Formats: sequence, C-alpha cells, structure tokens
Amino acid sequence: MQCRPGCGACCIAPSISSLAKPAGQNCRHLTADFRCTVFGRAERPACCAGLRPSADMCGETREQALAWLTELERATAG
Ligand code: SF4
Ligand code: SF4
Repeated sequence: MQCRPGCGACCIAPSISSLAKPAGQNCRHLTADFRCTVFGRAERPACCAGLRPSADMCGETREQALAWLTELERATAG
C-alpha cells in the first residue's frame, strides 16, 4: 500500500510526544500540501519513520483516515 499524496492525516490526528504535538494539530514539519519537511532526516521521529500505510489506518479517503486516527487517539489517550 502506498501513502496517498495530499493526505497528511497521520501527521495531524495523533499526538506525537517527541514533538510535543497535541492530537488534532498539524505537525510543525508538515507543509501546506501535506508533505514532511524532515523526511529522511534525523529530526524526523522514529515513530514517523516506522509508520507504514495500511488499509485500516488510511482508509479510502483522507477523511476516513482522519476519523480512524482521531478515534484511535481517543481510545488510547491517557
Ligand atoms: S494516513 Fe495513510 S495515506 Fe494518509 S498520510 Fe498517513 S500513511 Fe499516508
Ligand atoms: S515529522 Fe513529518 S512524518 Fe512525522 S508527523 Fe511531522 S510531518 Fe508527519
């Protein structure tokens, strides 16, 4: 499975502790067209490098991915 261009859902919905990124806010490394400015660089968190697109997470649309990731975040928060 390939990452969908123009999505960025997994850079928005989840919290990322190593970046002090709250859930639901764009990562500071995310561009306006949903690309990662630190891709392939040391600043990119290991959790990002290890994340692979999957049918469950990515769904068929960006909206489905945002909804699934938001629900996952809610279920695992705290
Ligand atoms: S949710 Fe899936 S398709 Fe969307 S940016 Fe992340 S990996 Fe890519
Ligand atoms: S560092 Fe890059 S891949 Fe990780 S959440 Fe931010 S924009 Fe996305």
